[in-house]
Amino acid sequence: MKRTSYNCDICGVERKEANHWFVATKDAVCFSIEAWDAAEIENDLDSMNAIHLCGQVCAHKLLDRFLVETSTTSTKGENNGEKQFV
Ligand SMILES: [Zn+2]
Repeated sequence: MKRTSYNCDICGVERKEANHWFVATKDAVCFSIEAWDAAEIENDLDSMNAIHLCGQVCAHKLLDRFLVETSTTSTKGENNGEKQFV
């Protein structure tokens, strides 16, 4: 089951020996990023919603996406009528 190689889920680059990778998880309302080593220890690398990131640039891209998604969906669905602007 354990994968031996990983690709960045944003830009597709293959992970080599670099150690500045991150693992992100996100759902409709929550976004989190952890260091690759920590994710490896926690066995999060192969979890269903793990998003592998090759570095800060792709991490920022993913975060941007998440912010856009949540800002466009937060006015619908279960938070209907309860808008929050920061
Ligand atoms: Zn990348």
